[in-house]
Amino acid sequence: MFFKEWREDLVKTLISKGYLYSSKVIRSFRIVPREKFLPINLKKKAYIDTPLPIGFEQTISAPHMVAIMAEVSDFKEGNKVLEIGTGSGYNAAIMAEIVCLKNYQNQGHVYTLEIIPELYSFAKKNLEETNYDNRVTVILHDGSIGYADQAPYDRILVTAAAPKVPTVLIEQLKLGGMLLIPVGDHYFFQSLIKIKKNYDGSTVTEKLGGVAFVPLTGKNGWKS
Ligand code: SAM
Repeated sequence: MFFKEWREDLVKTLISKGYLYSSKVIRSFRIVPREKFLPINLKKKAYIDTPLPIGFEQTISAPHMVAIMAEVSDFKEGNKVLEIGTGSGYNAAIMAEIVCLKNYQNQGHVYTLEIIPELYSFAKKNLEETNYDNRVTVILHDGSIGYADQAPYDRILVTAAAPKVPTVLIEQLKLGGMLLIPVGDHYFFQSLIKIKKNYDGSTVTEKLGGVAFVPLTGKNGWKS
């Protein structure tokens, strides 16, 4: 298979469409093998810019959506990141490749929370097989309440759509930190919300546009 060539073609497309623009995010997209985060029958579709099913009615997000969230996050090396919605583990690996380079010289780390036990195991295996397990910790946990054990975080990214912003996630941000979360309908019509926490503890909220994510479940999510 020609995964490397297909990956490069996708990166070029995402750059030409304006989804990818910073060297650190582009570098990460060039390195992380999306095919290794997919079920075996879907690997050949890894570099089509589309969400794909990973079982349990869940999806790996489309590459352009991963790119949008990574670029908006403006990650710095050494950031401590919380992701809510591990899914396949791909987005966690993309973020780890930016906040913690392979020599592990800095303290950057990604904590990622998954509520479905089978997907927790799937992502853990994918991250081990791609050698991201030193930089990413996968936790089976209801992410709608955040993860107080490792708080506060420089960045919190939610990759499932919430009915409203859980205030506990803002509490778990560092001063100067940022939360990205899709908020809106149960399915399909949501806004990607960016909340910046200022150094005096006040917050600034910005709507970044329409997105379509699967629902966030758990205590502060949708009751199914
Ligand atoms: N980031 C993922 C990736 O790179 O493959 C894609 C995430 S998928 C669109 C959303 C994920 O959020 C699903 O795996 C789902 O089980 C998970 N999820 C939904 N509600 C959750 C919750 N309360 N806590 C943790 N994970 C949750």
